[in-house]
Amino acid sequence: MSEGRIIRVDMTDQSVSIDPFPEEWHLLGGRALSAKILLAECDATCDPLGPDNVLVVAPGALAGTSAPTSGRISIGGKSPLTGGIKEANAGGNPGQDLMKLGYRAIIVKGQPGDRDKRWALDVTEEGATLKDATEYKGLWNYALIGELAKTYSATASFISIGPAGELELLGASVACTDQEKERHPVRHAGRGGLGAVMGSKCLKYVSVDAAKKPARAPADREAFIAATRTTSKAYLEGPRPMQHGTSTSVGMAQILNTFPYKNRIEGQSPDAETLDGHRIIESFETRGGGMHNCQTGCIVKCSNVVHDEDGNYKTSALEFETLTLLGSNCGLASWEDVADLDRLCDDIGLDTIETGAAIGVYMDSGAMEFGDAEGAKHLMREIAEGSDVGRTIGNGAVATGKRQKHHRVPTVRGQAIPAWDPRPLKATGITYATSPMGADHTAGLVINPGLQPDE
Ligand code: SF4
Repeated sequence: MSEGRIIRVDMTDQSVSIDPFPEEWHLLGGRALSAKILLAECDATCDPLGPDNVLVVAPGALAGTSAPTSGRISIGGKSPLTGGIKEANAGGNPGQDLMKLGYRAIIVKGQPGDRDKRWALDVTEEGATLKDATEYKGLWNYALIGELAKTYSATASFISIGPAGELELLGASVACTDQEKERHPVRHAGRGGLGAVMGSKCLKYVSVDAAKKPARAPADREAFIAATRTTSKAYLEGPRPMQHGTSTSVGMAQILNTFPYKNRIEGQSPDAETLDGHRIIESFETRGGGMHNCQTGCIVKCSNVVHDEDGNYKTSALEFETLTLLGSNCGLASWEDVADLDRLCDDIGLDTIETGAAIGVYMDSGAMEFGDAEGAKHLMREIAEGSDVGRTIGNGAVATGKRQKHHRVPTVRGQAIPAWDPRPLKATGITYATSPMGADHTAGLVINPGLQPDE
């Protein structure tokens, strides 16, 4: 394998350098690499939105190779939401493209003196350059990518923030474009407010253009191909549990009492049938859309593409977590309303879990009726506009609970609890209680399918 390189960006003086990748990190990628870099280079006591925080972009160690489903990308930093170390990861193509170019990580430090300007980092085989991107200030993610598509090569992929990140809201996400030719900005590193960290550095987007660069060459080609063939065959000939995506987990979650309803007052929703991802699968026949791979080289294809009733693209991917937090947790009954909210979250650049939890707390406090889908959509637009209530919701469940002086705020270390509920799933509860990342199901998730609702 290539020894690789690291791109270092100092936003204080807008300097960029490219360093060799340290030998001792050779086998690390993604979350492990992000954690190593943060422990080595980030002051744990720093202001998460100040110049001393470090934003890390680190693809998985096998990204850019022909290994299937190996190209996810990790975004790391000190979380402004939890105050601790944080990693959130996403699909899409930037991870694959960075590694094809031999870049093992991007490390962004510092903060520009002029916070009104915006910057973009262009990454190609020739190197990396920072340039003024103030003309894109305030653009929502879809509009941003639409504009960038006019000037960048069709082979470029993008990492970006929407208005929530620019407003440094604590529920802000980092978007990565998927592998479709439209390059939808729909794969989000959602948790922990890392979009706010990117926003605090005034970095609006990163472009990665691998052009026609081939997959990375393995050191032992024959052994590598044999291993990837065995893995792919085993998966494709197996039960393929994710072939219809995470959205079809609703039924199982309902049985297990982990489909939280109305700010987690109940563990089951009376609307599980109409929120179940199988309704989305059924819609493909008449509306189009379908299952796809969000990044090149993925054989799992768990990502759904959702169309509206006129057959036009609406959003991707509408996941179980989103159907739960923005759906049943807010008392909504229609997956179509959740699809609208998912689209708004992707476009504004928000974590659907944190935002759904915040709206659930807001509704539970009496400020809005549970089930008010149009009210929830209006709140989302308020977040993008940065209104007083919008900023509160955009800052997450704890901020919303404080504003509303509400007692029921389901969070751990300042971060909203995901769909998987720690009461029936006690081992998962231990993860939430002990992980330095707070309530995060990606830090360890144990589901016991044998568990019955009354156990
Ligand atoms: S389609 Fe699913 S499994 Fe494949 S890369 Fe995207 S999120 Fe991962």
